[in-house]
Amino acid sequence: MAQKLSTICVQAGWKPTNGEPRILPIYQSTTFKYDTTAQMADLFDLKVPGYFYTRLQNPTNDKVAEKIAALEGGVAAMLTSSGQAANFYAVFNICQAGDHFVSAASIYGGTYNLFNVTMRKLGIDVTFVDADASEEEISKAFRPNTKALFGETIANPVLSVLDIEKFARIAHKHGVPLIVDNTFPTPINCRPFEFGCDIVTHSTTKYMDGHAMTVGGCIVDSGNFDWEKYHSKFAGLTEPDESYHGLAYTKAFGKGAYITKATVQLMRDLGSIQAPQNAFLLNIGLETLHLRVPRHCENAQKVAEFLEKQEQVAWVNYSGLKSSKYYELAQKQFTNGQSCGVVTFGLKGGREVAIKFMDSLKFCCIATHVADARTCVLHPASHTHRQLSDEQLREAGINPDLIRFSVGIEDADDIINDITQALKQCQ
Ligand code: PLP
Repeated sequence: MAQKLSTICVQAGWKPTNGEPRILPIYQSTTFKYDTTAQMADLFDLKVPGYFYTRLQNPTNDKVAEKIAALEGGVAAMLTSSGQAANFYAVFNICQAGDHFVSAASIYGGTYNLFNVTMRKLGIDVTFVDADASEEEISKAFRPNTKALFGETIANPVLSVLDIEKFARIAHKHGVPLIVDNTFPTPINCRPFEFGCDIVTHSTTKYMDGHAMTVGGCIVDSGNFDWEKYHSKFAGLTEPDESYHGLAYTKAFGKGAYITKATVQLMRDLGSIQAPQNAFLLNIGLETLHLRVPRHCENAQKVAEFLEKQEQVAWVNYSGLKSSKYYELAQKQFTNGQSCGVVTFGLKGGREVAIKFMDSLKFCCIATHVADARTCVLHPASHTHRQLSDEQLREAGINPDLIRFSVGIEDADDIINDITQALKQCQ
């Protein structure tokens, strides 16, 4: 019988045999020793599984990746040095110069820049679409050279909820995989593969680590996308790779093709590995993910409901509120309708009042970070997006007065008391 997510959080990955350490060891080693040249040669030829150099694979990292793959219900996963690297590799693994992909427009600003500026410099074109538009409208963005569709389950910081089933239908109609960044809900609240998504990415820096200790990322493959069906479109996976002894990944690795290519080709060449020490810390975070995420959501729901009742509050955005246009979708797509611990809202009086409010908070601290055990707050217009004009902010779906409130796992009463006293300072 399949194990429940709580058990997977605690038990998956490292499974010690008799006399081995109970806790996942940190393989703090760049390299691995072999007795014969033939053994090493077999590893380089990928004829046998094993380790030779940590830039490609490390046992600590692999055990943590295995746990995340199990949480998402995927067949294989790899850790990366950051969420940025995960999203870059996820797309670059199937797109090259001259190719095109389609992405939801409301996504994390760093990912938007990566797609809109850096990937264009590599000759990979992107079209951004309104994720709430109809299937017909979104389909218009597809071209013969389109290789993927991308979206965030819950967009940071706009908090729009992606209709994964709709996106999967569109992607598959055009013969491309759907890649979903599932950072905000985590597999505890949403498992995108169950709605037809093909590849999931994470910034593990957020809830998975959960304690603001390590920057990291992960890519998980469902193993469901049939690359061979579109053989020539995904030649990088289906045709011999001249940089890897003429190996054709789909033929050699079947459902493991996508992650194997990302590991032995992209990681080999670009080297954005996660340090084993960080993977070890991430694993500790994962062991309590199933306890922390529901608490974040419970607290966020209370904070959102409280804010909605306040005279000074102009608007509140949280998919757990009946007033949210994403409420129904969240009920359908998320476990117990719970999305994440992040709430956004605006105060009457706009930007200036937002700043006064944030400066008046006591323990809910100002931090760029989000999805952390400690409540933290950010004003994108003054911080992460400060280079944008009010008009550009609105285009990106961010109100200039938007306060991003990442609700922690402290006592909800204390968080609400801190908000109350800060609101008083703004009267
Ligand atoms: N994806 C999402 C949804 C994010 O919120 C972030 C960072 O905030 C990233 C990706 C990038 O992750 P990292 O900061 O780990 O590179």
